[in-house]
Amino acid sequence: MRLNINDGEHLESPTDADVEMRVEQLAVDQFLVLTSQPGHFVQTYHKSDGCFELERRQGASQDHYAVKSSTITIDDVKKAFALFLRQSAELATSWNWQQLSFGPEVDLVDEEQSVSSDALVEYHGVLMSADWPQEIEDAQELRDYVMHGQRLGRVVQSEQDASDEAASGEHSGLCQECGVRTAQFHVPGCRYEQCPRCQGKLVECSCEIDID
Ligand SMILES: [Zn+2]
Ligand SMILES: [Zn+2]
Repeated sequence: MRLNINDGEHLESPTDADVEMRVEQLAVDQFLVLTSQPGHFVQTYHKSDGCFELERRQGASQDHYAVKSSTITIDDVKKAFALFLRQSAELATSWNWQQLSFGPEVDLVDEEQSVSSDALVEYHGVLMSADWPQEIEDAQELRDYVMHGQRLGRVVQSEQDASDEAASGEHSGLCQECGVRTAQFHVPGCRYEQCPRCQGKLVECSCEIDID
């Protein structure tokens, strides 16, 4: 678990008390994102009118949900983050979650009805958690791994790695898990990263990265 406090601070393995305190201290115009693994998170945004937005995502972009923000109190936010921290199934049933749809149709939705997504950013034409572009940028700095005493250049996302549907269309060549473009390095931990030592999947192969 990782708690991102408005992109200014990151807490690894936060406790219940940490999370509750950060929700209480969340200033207007700030966001909090609690992530269990890439694409799996709950997030809130403290709007300038004092209300909170609450969203959760379970992997794919179609599994992204929000609750109508006028009904959300700070206690709801605390409860939702606590439930996510425990990975409780109650999170999905405690509020009237509405699936968010992204893409061109978003612009056509009536302002009143649309669920705003301020804590999300567009990157490579894809909406993602606000802290993810930084992870992608950081990943580009890591150019090689030392494995079993050998320095090996990391393998970049290649055109062939993209799924058929992603290969055509506007998201052409993007890694479907971590969202990097063709010829970019994957975010470490991405299951599509190839091992430079055995050419298998790095998350599955038995090669080890030396810690120096
Ligand atoms: Zn990837
Ligand atoms: Zn390997």
